[in-house]
Order: sequence, then C-alpha cells, then structure tokens
Amino acid sequence: MDNCIFCRIIRGEVPSKTVFENEHFKVMLDIGPASRGHVLILPKEHYSDLFELPEELAAEVLPLARKIASGVKKAFRPAGVKLVQNNGAMAGQTVMHFHLHIIPCYDGTEVGEWKPGSPSAEELEIIQTAIKEALA
Ligand code: AMP
Ligand code: ZN
Repeated sequence: MDNCIFCRIIRGEVPSKTVFENEHFKVMLDIGPASRGHVLILPKEHYSDLFELPEELAAEVLPLARKIASGVKKAFRPAGVKLVQNNGAMAGQTVMHFHLHIIPCYDGTEVGEWKPGSPSAEELEIIQTAIKEALA
C-alpha cells in the first residue's frame, strides 16, 4: 500500500513515536491526540478495517489493548480509558488502515468527538518515554 500513511510509518518512511511493537502490531502515539497518552494499535500488514483484518490478528488485538491500556493507566493515572475503532468514512475513519485508539480520559475531558491536540516534540518524547517505562 504505497500511499497509506500507516504503511509508510511501518516501512520507516515517515517518523513516528513507537511505544511497543511485536511480530504483528505496532503501537504508537497518535499525532493529533484527544488527550495525553492517546495511542494507536495497528497491524504491520495493511488491512483497511476490522472486516479485512484476519480473525487470528483480530484475536490478538484486545489482549494487546489491555496490556497497553494498563501501561497508559500506570503512566498517567487517567480517570478512565476509552477504546475507539472506526470502520468506514461514515464512522469517522480517516486512515484506511485498521487501528484501535486507546484514549485516556481525565476529569473534565470529553473525547466523544475530539479536537486533535498538537503537542510539541518535547511533550511527545515525554509521553513516549512514560508509556515505554510503564510497559517495561
Ligand atoms: P481515525 O479517524 O479513526 O481513522 O483515526 C486516525 C488517527 O490517526 C487520527 O487520530 C490521527 O490523528 C492519527 N494520525 C494520522 N496521521 C498520523 C501519523 N502520521 N502519526 C500518528 N497518528 C496519525
Ligand atoms: Zn496501510
């Protein structure tokens, strides 16, 4: 998938802030986060949405989400954690490469229809390090 931004990230052509990866998945900071610690889980192979994702990979997603969300909770102590997974433009999917959002929810944060944040490079590094350390 030459033009898919997430495939380009996985190929190393576009920079990203990885917090975890295994054989099948990469977990990285969202570039326009809804809140501090918002990360995305994406398969290393291109599947456009949940309906294309093979069942064996789909079965790995929720255990991985629990592990990563635990790290995010440990790092930032949010009041709650929301998982979001959009399929199709009408559902709000903008990047047509399957991904699951893990969104920490803090007191006073409404992330139903979130406005993308624009953290500085320094802030992204701090968040990346905190999640990696929490997962170590
Ligand atoms: P969705 O609307 O569910 O398709 O979500 C796509 C998400 O990908 C949005 O939250 C974007 O902020 C995020 N995103 C887009 N481009 C990048 C990128 N280069 N690196 C990290 N996250 C990205
Ligand atoms: Zn892709």
